[in-house]
This record gives sequence, structure tokens and C-alpha cells, in this order.
Amino acid sequence: MENFDLAIIGAGPAGYEAAVFAAKQGLKTALIEKSELGGTCLNNGCIPTKTLLHTADLYREMTNQADIIGLDYQALSFDMKKMQLHKQDVIQKLREGIAKLMKMHKVTIIKGCAKIVGEHEIAIQSDEKVENIEAKNILIATGSVPAMPPIKGAELTINSDELLNDENVYEQIAIIGGGVIGIEFAFLYASLGKRVIILEALDRILANMDKEFAQSLKMLLSKRNVEIQTKALVQEISYNEGTKKYNCKYLQKDAEYIISADKVLMAVGRRAYTQNLFADNLSIETDRGKIKVNENYQTNIENIYASGDVIGGIQLAHVATAEAINAVCHMLGRAPIYNMKLIPSCIYTNPEIASVGMTLDEAKAQGINVKTIKYPMGANGKTVLSLQERGFIKIIVNKETDCILGAQMMCAHATDMISQFTQAIQQELTLVDLQKIIFPHPTFNEAIGKAVE
Ligand code: FAD
Repeated sequence: MENFDLAIIGAGPAGYEAAVFAAKQGLKTALIEKSELGGTCLNNGCIPTKTLLHTADLYREMTNQADIIGLDYQALSFDMKKMQLHKQDVIQKLREGIAKLMKMHKVTIIKGCAKIVGEHEIAIQSDEKVENIEAKNILIATGSVPAMPPIKGAELTINSDELLNDENVYEQIAIIGGGVIGIEFAFLYASLGKRVIILEALDRILANMDKEFAQSLKMLLSKRNVEIQTKALVQEISYNEGTKKYNCKYLQKDAEYIISADKVLMAVGRRAYTQNLFADNLSIETDRGKIKVNENYQTNIENIYASGDVIGGIQLAHVATAEAINAVCHMLGRAPIYNMKLIPSCIYTNPEIASVGMTLDEAKAQGINVKTIKYPMGANGKTVLSLQERGFIKIIVNKETDCILGAQMMCAHATDMISQFTQAIQQELTLVDLQKIIFPHPTFNEAIGKAVE
């Protein structure tokens, strides 16, 4: 039986990034994957959604703005089959990149489905054969899959994995769930000129986000022909053979409504994936399906670690990576590298939304005396010249220390710009520190300099 220092189950952003890091530290590392390298992020998540959104955004911008900015064309249309081919090409290139990276760092890739059969032993099933390996430490990075709520007729809906690979374009799509995934798909379809209806059970979309941003986004979505129904509790989904449409029956303020659509996307979250992962003799503690870990990402069996979507928490690719690398640090007896208290989060709408650190409400709840700086992107030259949606930047500053505590942005390139604030908060920079920075002109980034002036 081959013996490794570390065996990692799952080659998503938690697994493959941890594998490279561990190998660089001299650990003999195995990376086991039952499907494709890259996990949800590369194959069914971050990369394919943003690739399709990129095309859809260009389509919308060209359709609305070509004439204004002086471009002339005969007719512009989109071809979902070609969009899908392009998306697959992007995925393939990045997959090859990961494979090269593993080879370069001498990580052993084992293709197959892993089952932990002992504290140090994994059985890997591929085709007809089973191979067993031993490892001093094991890292579970098996991710998550779309959740399917117990709603009557839920099996008639499709999930994000399926919609991302669908070559059809639906004239009207209903989306159950107004979280990040639902909203990104709403933008995708709206940018392609299709009608979208969002049914959200809570009283607002993007419930975890700063209220002002969620409100601005709601207004923007309605301008783009997206209907949003909040406090809408979906009761049943059915298919009408006559109209060839799906009907969603929902309750709102005690009244019953029905909307119909050509397809229904279920986007109500994701659940940790641990199917057949443990032999019966192993008892790994879980909490509503998620693997329970301590602050070092150890499960109740100390040499078995877990990180990424499978432990719940904030289900984002960069969080999965940071957790997994911190877990490897613990195996090596080192301090963690990443500060898990400071996590940027981004939504790839148009304009983009990004946030890091405290919101105004969070700072107030902690009794911190703060001031808010708000800067409108309508005053930013690059925003105006490129006909971007206006949006704004909000910076939360500690009134007593002048330190930056948080930032929220809604503007073009917000997802790239947010790192400047992550760094400022991490290094405990003050407003005066930010004022010293010279930003090139014209850039979106210079709005940060203007905001803190
Ligand atoms: P995963 O990426 O899910 O990888 C787990 C891997 O484990 C899979 O490849 C799976 O096949 C493998 N596996 C499972 N069980 C076994 C087994 N027994 N044996 C062998 N292999 C196994 N996050 C962002 O940060 N930014 C975004 O823009 C973003 N967009 C998203 C869009 C969508 C539509 C979705 C669904 C998600 C998005 N996410 C985004 C979330 C992000 O994809 C996840 O947080 C991230 O992929 C989690 O990484 P992970 O390594 O924990 O798990």
C-alpha cells in the first residue's frame, strides 16, 4: 500500500490549492478526485458563470450602447451553443493548468471515488478496481452540491449545474431563491433580453448584504425587466402539458399566486457533500450534514482535517482555499497564514458588488463610534467614459482611531478594487494613510483616492 504524508479528497479550490502548498513544503501528497480537476468552482461555479456573464454583459452593452459610442453593426445576436463552447474551452484551459501545476510539484493525482476506511487509510474506487493508500494526515475537501428543498414538484426544476450546461435559452425563467447564485443567473438571463421572475422567501434579496446595496440592486433589476417577489413561499411546482410551461404556486401575505415560466431554476443554497465518504466503523461528527471541525480544521479524529464547502460557513472559493492551506499549516505545526476574520465577498452583477470588513450596522452593533464616507461613481471619469452604471463606494471608518474598518462598493470592477480595502484593513491603515496614495488617472481605482480626500 502506498504511503503519503497527506492525502486530500477532492480537487476543488480547497483540495488542489492545499495540495500545491503541501507539496511545496516537502510533503508527499496525493490528491484524489472522482470527477474533474477544479471542483465546483472551475466546472460548475465561479468560472463558467463568469464566462457566460462576460458574454451576456458584452451583448447587453453593445445592444444598448454601440450607437451612442459610435460603433455600427448590421445586427447583433447571441448563440448559446457557441457561448457554451467558449465556456468549455475556458474550463479546459484552466483544468490543464491545474494538471500541469500538480505535475510540476509532484502531487500524485488519483482518479476515483474515495472512502475513508481507517484513521489513516483510504479506499479509492475507480471503474472496476479498488486501490488503498495510507496517509499520515487526511484532508477532506469534498465540497457541496445544490440543495433541493422538500417542495412538491421540486424534481421538475433544474439546478445551477444543469442550467450552466443548457444550450437552450428560455424566454421566461423563474428563479427560486434571491441569493448570490440566483441573482447572478438573473443578470445573465436579463442581459440576454429574457424575462426573469425571482421568488424569494425572505423580505429582501441578498439578505446577508448591506441593505442599501440590496435596494439599489433591486431597482436595477426591475429596470432590466426582472420581477422580484419577496416573502414569497413556494408551495408547489407543476408542468402544464397544454401551455408547455411550469407553474410555481406561492404564498405571499396569506394570498396564493401562480406564475408560469419556461424553466424553473432552484437556487436555494448548497449542502455539504459527504456521500459514502466514511466506512461504517468510522464515526466523524457532523452538524446537519456539514463536517464539524475545530479552529484548526481538525475533525473529531485529529489527523483527519476538513475544509471548504463541506464544513459549511461562507461557501466561497477563496475561503475554501484559505481554510485548506491553514489546515496544512496546522499539520506542519505552523501558525495559520490567512486571517479568516477578513473575507472579501463579491457578486458578479453589472455593476459588480464587493464588500469587506464591517458594514455600518455591524460596527454600530459592536458599539464602535464610526463615520461613513460615501462616494458616487458618477463623479469618476472612467465610469462616465465607459458608460458604466453609476453606483457608489462606502467606507466605514473608526472615528476614534481613523482606521478603515470596512468597505462596500457597487461599481464596475468593484471585485478587483475591493482588495485595496482588504489590505488597508489587514494593515490597520488610517484614512490619512490612504490619502498618501497616488492613483493613476483615469482609472476606476482613483475613486478610492477621491473618496478619502
Ligand atoms: P468543490 O469545489 O465543490 O470541490 C469538491 C471536489 O470534491 C469535487 O471536484 C468533487 O467531485 C470531489 N469529491 C467529492 N467527493 C469525493 C470523493 N468521495 N472522492 C473523490 N472526490 C470527491 N465562489 C466564489 O468565491 N466566487 C464565485 O464567483 C462563485 N460563483 C459560484 C457560482 C455558482 C453557480 C456556484 C454553484 C458556486 C460558486 N462559488 C463561487 C462557490 C465556489 O464554487 C465554492 O465555494 C468552491 O468551489 C468550494 O470549494 P471546495 O474545494 O470546498 O469544493
